[in-house]
Amino acid sequence: MKRTLDVVVPCYNEADCVDLLYKELEKVLDPIEYLDWTLILVDDGSRDSTMFHIKNLAKEHGNERVKYISFSRNFGKESAIYAGLSYASSDYVVLMDADLQHPPALLKDMLNALVNEDYDVCGARRVSREGEPLIRSGLSNLFYKLFNKVTAIELIPGGSDFRMMKNSVVKAMLDMQERGRFTKGMMSWVGFKTKWIEYKNVQRAAGVTKWSARGLMHYAIDGFFAFATTPLRAVIWLGFLIDFVTFISAIIFAVRELSNNGPRTGYGTIVILIAFFGGTILLILGIIGEYLARIYLEVKRRPIFIARETNIKSK
Ligand code: UDP
Ligand code: MG
Repeated sequence: MKRTLDVVVPCYNEADCVDLLYKELEKVLDPIEYLDWTLILVDDGSRDSTMFHIKNLAKEHGNERVKYISFSRNFGKESAIYAGLSYASSDYVVLMDADLQHPPALLKDMLNALVNEDYDVCGARRVSREGEPLIRSGLSNLFYKLFNKVTAIELIPGGSDFRMMKNSVVKAMLDMQERGRFTKGMMSWVGFKTKWIEYKNVQRAAGVTKWSARGLMHYAIDGFFAFATTPLRAVIWLGFLIDFVTFISAIIFAVRELSNNGPRTGYGTIVILIAFFGGTILLILGIIGEYLARIYLEVKRRPIFIARETNIKSK
């Protein structure tokens, strides 16, 4: 039986990469006889000749083989991934970068894991970060550690967006209607049986990275706050702590004042009152944070459950 695969690729100023990418995909995917594949290119508002190259590819290989969507401006990679997934219609979908940093050679193993090994998702995990600035990998490690500590989901260190999934997983990803999208976190949230295969870091085939230090920082911060509500709640503990310390000091202060007969300054009373109100305000803010965290999670309208399989026909 023939299977179908959509290769979803976000492209932002990748004029030098799209043709190379197509050739590499052809080399790997054409020999698989049971497979029909489609390339879905999402042009994320490129300012160079990316669209010219994409249209040429579509002309040359047909609109069934090369599909494209072009954004009115740069909306960012996460939006491009969402668009690509919502246009995908095949049995399997793989997310991939345009610059060949995600080796197409892995596609065969990924497909195998899904078709023959009953996995729902197969992700690629980068095991070496050679050729990357030390500060970038250091910060990235820190991010993973913090993220995994603070949130309920787990990110696999080095796990990239390079993932192949069954269409049931794609549906689950699209059922998450939240605006601030963090694909890595969402993929972990939806669950499913996932296999990881490893690969070594590869340099870009052409062009330059689209991530500035600032952009990456924003990405990390967005990702963190999309899943962590701890910062909203943490303040409650600080309030408790301050009130507790104030209470103890008030007792010590009262005992000391009462046991000596010197003149009273009132200094201690003022300090204790200020600390008490400070602590209490934080505590109340923390309680408001609890509600806010709940509202935040509610407005995302994430699905309440995601079924992997069932024998009940849906109504
Ligand atoms: N990309 C995108 N929109 C953006 C930035 C990047 O669609 O605003 C795409 C880019 O074309 C590439 C992928 O996201 O296909 C990864 O970007 P890049 O290779 O620059 O990131 P890096 O590999 O350096 O992390
Ligand atoms: Mg890249």
